[in-house]
Amino acid sequence: MNIHLQEPALRPLPLGSIRPRGWLARQLRIQADGLSGHLDEFWPDIKESRWFGGEAEGWERAPYWLDGVIPLAFLLDDEALKAKVDRYVNYILEHQTEDGWLGPSQMVWTAGQSPTPLQHYDLWSLFLILKALTQYGDATADPRVAPAIEKCLRRIERHIDYAPLFNWAMFRWFEALISIYWLWERDGHGREIGPSIGEDRGDKQWLAELAIKLHAQGFHWRDFFQRWPLTRPTPRGRWTYMGHVVNNAMAVKAPALWWRLTGEEADRTAVYDMIAKLDQYHGMVTGMFTGDECLAGKRPTQGTELCAVVEFMYSLELLLSVLGDPAFGDRLEKVTFNALPATFSPDMWAHQYDQQVNQVECSIRDDRSWNSNGPEANIFGLEPNYGCCTANLSQGWPKFAAHLWMCTPDGGLAAVAYAPSTVTIEVGGAPVTVALDTEYPFRETLRFTVTSAQPTRFPLLLRIPAWAEDCRLQVEGEEAIIPTAGTFHRLEREWRATTEISLTLPMQPTLLPGYNGAAAIARGPLVYALKIGEEWRQVNQGLPHRELPHADWEVYPTTPWNYALAVSPATLAQDVIFREHPLGDMPFSPDGAPISATVRGFRVPDWGMENGSAADVPASPVAAAGPLEELTLIPYGCTNLRITEFPVASV
Ligand SMILES: [Zn+2]
Repeated sequence: MNIHLQEPALRPLPLGSIRPRGWLARQLRIQADGLSGHLDEFWPDIKESRWFGGEAEGWERAPYWLDGVIPLAFLLDDEALKAKVDRYVNYILEHQTEDGWLGPSQMVWTAGQSPTPLQHYDLWSLFLILKALTQYGDATADPRVAPAIEKCLRRIERHIDYAPLFNWAMFRWFEALISIYWLWERDGHGREIGPSIGEDRGDKQWLAELAIKLHAQGFHWRDFFQRWPLTRPTPRGRWTYMGHVVNNAMAVKAPALWWRLTGEEADRTAVYDMIAKLDQYHGMVTGMFTGDECLAGKRPTQGTELCAVVEFMYSLELLLSVLGDPAFGDRLEKVTFNALPATFSPDMWAHQYDQQVNQVECSIRDDRSWNSNGPEANIFGLEPNYGCCTANLSQGWPKFAAHLWMCTPDGGLAAVAYAPSTVTIEVGGAPVTVALDTEYPFRETLRFTVTSAQPTRFPLLLRIPAWAEDCRLQVEGEEAIIPTAGTFHRLEREWRATTEISLTLPMQPTLLPGYNGAAAIARGPLVYALKIGEEWRQVNQGLPHRELPHADWEVYPTTPWNYALAVSPATLAQDVIFREHPLGDMPFSPDGAPISATVRGFRVPDWGMENGSAADVPASPVAAAGPLEELTLIPYGCTNLRITEFPVASV
């Protein structure tokens, strides 16, 4: 057996090659100044984690946090945050056992509990810490990282012979492929050497064997989706690994990762099949699917767990890399600019466990219609419902920033998702920098500046979103062209000194179909939602660690929300009027929204509350009973309370 790895369509750049600018840099700073950057100072599950020698949780939480805080620290080049990361990673590396085990080895974190045998340890947290360490290795070139990862993977390879995968590691087995491939493509010092197709890589065959064993012991997501039974909301009170929303968000990348080893076309097509089925039966207009916390159907008042949002984003980033399909870039932007910021308070000190697309009240209630989550799953706070998201929320923005640009196999650069940033790579031994200045997604214009120290030939690929019909691309001093929507547009030339490129992506309003005949308004990558007045009430003051600024909050509406829209597809461009506002320091907040829309609508008096949520959207079309009012919509990502799926009028 001599197995080679298939080359990914696009290769992510080492952490540190991309720097955030503009609003993206400010957003990462908000994250670093909020819960994410300070969690280790007071939250026992990080501060006193068993991963760092403490007595608190010793499984997934510290690795989750590091998986996001490592890229955050290096993207911001924040000395204090980097020092924290160094300290924690050092502790983990220095405490690796002789036989390769990393971190705690017992599923025990309550004083007095008796020790568990090693074979009862769920390996998921090891897959997770290895993934985090690959980022640290790339960012620092620390020579200890590759040997530590190798030692641990060899330990896992022996371990699963007598203790096969179970529970989380079984359903997330493919996450181990990330560190397996990372090591495969590195030399003993952690330097990238690529897949070396055609060369005998006998020294790496044990990694292929490990991957094959993990695949055999892990859950077969591709097979499961071929005859997929999860076409209805998960019944109340049932909880399953197969229908778990986070597992599904992670699993959509499993066939693509596995394809790198098999080269089988069916593994590539399975990705599309899985996403299409999740969309059809559980999809939301935000690009996410419901899960509170198992797949929950199409009602816009069902919740979606924050972990699913950040994991789906990461899956899309890897799918962009492996398959190179620009459609994954469109989807990544939709989730990132809508579902991600919406589920945080604007200062990122508080987050929800579950967000709702129609969310008119965030409160603690026993009678919520979640499938298996608790009474406080949609409040904003430190650890509403369960603390996984508290640790895992850190990876969303940083990994998005780290995957905006990728390398093409022929030595070029591809812009796969858009946000203000600078990327630097070496082409033919000379540094090349591309800076993107833009207020996208709140504006239509993107300005790229390519700077090459010496005349250098390489292709620059720009993603043209599928919604961007009649977009306009102009390279300095040349005639403008109209690239094809839904493709990567390739600009190949000899780049000299400085070249300015301008790309305009025209955004037209569209109606997205929703539940029970409802509709949502989207424009470009942004989905729009009703701006609702908010009253924030601090709660849970008696619980530990809930002092400001990391308190828990209920949010109640202070303005009406039960509106139908007076819009029709034929006149939509006239029905919805968009207005730009200055892009301030907190763009993802109701008052800081850099763009808003006005649209006419009317109250639907019969549409009320049910169990703390908006009742089911009345069937459309609804007859206009009351007077028409002018309604203000803002981007979904700027809202905390909202109606997104509206009934529509019979006009
Ligand atoms: Zn979670």
